[in-house]
Amino acid sequence: MPAEPRLAALQGLTDRHAVLRAAATLIPGTSPRLDAELLLAHALGNPRLEMLAGSAPLPPDVLALFATLVERRGRHEPIAHIVGEREFWSLPLHVTPDVLVPRPDSETLVAEALAWRAGAPPGFILDLGTGSGALLLAALGEWPSATGLGVDCSEAAVRVARANAQTLGLGGRAHFVVSDWATALDGRFDLLFCNPPYVPDGAQLMPDVVLHEPALALFGGADGLDPYRLLFPRVSGLLAPAGMAVFEFGEGQAEALLELAEGAGLHAQIADDLTGRPRAILLTVAPATPIGLGKPTASV
Ligand code: GLN
Repeated sequence: MPAEPRLAALQGLTDRHAVLRAAATLIPGTSPRLDAELLLAHALGNPRLEMLAGSAPLPPDVLALFATLVERRGRHEPIAHIVGEREFWSLPLHVTPDVLVPRPDSETLVAEALAWRAGAPPGFILDLGTGSGALLLAALGEWPSATGLGVDCSEAAVRVARANAQTLGLGGRAHFVVSDWATALDGRFDLLFCNPPYVPDGAQLMPDVVLHEPALALFGGADGLDPYRLLFPRVSGLLAPAGMAVFEFGEGQAEALLELAEGAGLHAQIADDLTGRPRAILLTVAPATPIGLGKPTASV
């Protein structure tokens, strides 16, 4: 039986397509039907396509569990938190409310790094603000000879990242430390990733994000640029010769970041995400040969 009165729409249904139709009317956001399918697949313990192909009536325990999942989604809890997983760069990553849910946008950083290092695998990779470990683990998965260090100021996030590294068989090459990123790091890296918190303080975000994801991973000061102001001046001291740093950023921040990069004596290039929005800034100490997939126009 549904636990909440507003789930009454689900009562008495056992046909999965009827259940999905009814659930979709109860789910907020832009993809209610897909969300319903993912939640029912999770309640059944089946992959989504297998769930959709099934025709047996849904058992009462599955329906009861499904109702509680729909109720959680109704409170804007992200699907990734409810099912405990999100795919990033084809890797299934465990996620909790302690880390940012990995976004497809961030795959841009991995794609750019891969294009830049094609044929010349990086030896050491640094991921500042690693969260779930998404960027670092995607890179280590692509480069079997590389070793990486993930840094996060959240101990809980580092636990998630470490567990992901173990589960994916990358634990031997992925190391994690709990540290404020302003703290001096020793060492030089061939590749530096950073997806810092870059949302301007007080910006309006979707309820899924603002209610359930860590503010620490989202908000970057009045204009969202505080992390870059802090970190760009340190980039040249962290990169090995011919190394590159790739930072993610958000809407309307490209111009300011190009200026900050210039001020830090770095060469910079902007790269767009798959939706055509400027999303990543690629930084090198000396002019790079050819760097990434980025637009050749944005060099400073
Ligand atoms: N892209 C995220 C959002 O808009 C923000 C991620 C970040 O600040 N690094 O919700």
